[in-house]
Amino acid sequence: MQTLIDYFSTMPSFHRSILLVGGILFFWIIEGFQPLFRFKGHNKWKHALTNIFFTLTTAVVNLSLAFVMVKLSDWTVVHHFGYMQWMSEFPLPIVLITGLALMDLISAYSIHYLNHKVKWFWLFHLIHHTDTHVDTTTANRHHPGESFLRLFATTIGVFLMGAPIWMIFLYQSLSVILSQFNHANIVLPKKVDKILSWVIVTPNMHHVHHHFQQPLTDTNYGNIFSIWDRIFGTYAEADNSKLVYGVDTHMEPMENSRVANLLKIPFQEYRDIKEINKKEEVSNT
Ligand SMILES: [Zn+2]
Ligand SMILES: [Zn+2]
Repeated sequence: MQTLIDYFSTMPSFHRSILLVGGILFFWIIEGFQPLFRFKGHNKWKHALTNIFFTLTTAVVNLSLAFVMVKLSDWTVVHHFGYMQWMSEFPLPIVLITGLALMDLISAYSIHYLNHKVKWFWLFHLIHHTDTHVDTTTANRHHPGESFLRLFATTIGVFLMGAPIWMIFLYQSLSVILSQFNHANIVLPKKVDKILSWVIVTPNMHHVHHHFQQPLTDTNYGNIFSIWDRIFGTYAEADNSKLVYGVDTHMEPMENSRVANLLKIPFQEYRDIKEINKKEEVSNT
């Protein structure tokens, strides 16, 4: 375990890049063998380019503010502040597992839940959901505005958890890989997915979150661990072969596949699906 801590304490930045790029490549290859959906007429490369653009903007936001996280982490260690510092007398595996789970709650589940409940958060988070061909490249398709919000949530997590540097790198590495895994357009054997979903967020579980209509969109907010959805009653299952990806308010390909249009979405008027349906009903009568 000490070796693990030593490695993540000084994890070279090129190892983090390898993890990000290698992960996408790995799941991209697996998707070729056993995809959940074989999308008709879909240009996988063009789709990937849009998502890679947003992956790069996310990386830029994260890198430009990484120093804040490092400073904050140092401060918590020096001042013995936060969960992991207060728990330092307990066995390391317990502190590590509970620390990762709590970090996941504060830095991922909570902000994801808010992204769906607060209107202007949703306008940024929409970009992630507008993808109608979810695959491993969707993992980091976030509007730069959302990337800031997520980074802010991670910073709060680091502060409250009193997370040392190794914990931040370990958490972020797991988060990157798990996210690529649970977005991947793959099918695991049903039983395997079911068993895994008691611990981690599986592809079946996260794909449900990408269904284009409520109430499924507002379920399965988890990032690494599935426990928070189970505890807070947001866990849901569905027949995954019948899922339709996207958001019902933004199903127009021009809107949901072009970078320039996607960047503008948060600054456009909020669309209420109930209002849209009502207008359609009136115009049909
Ligand atoms: Zn979401
Ligand atoms: Zn997603």
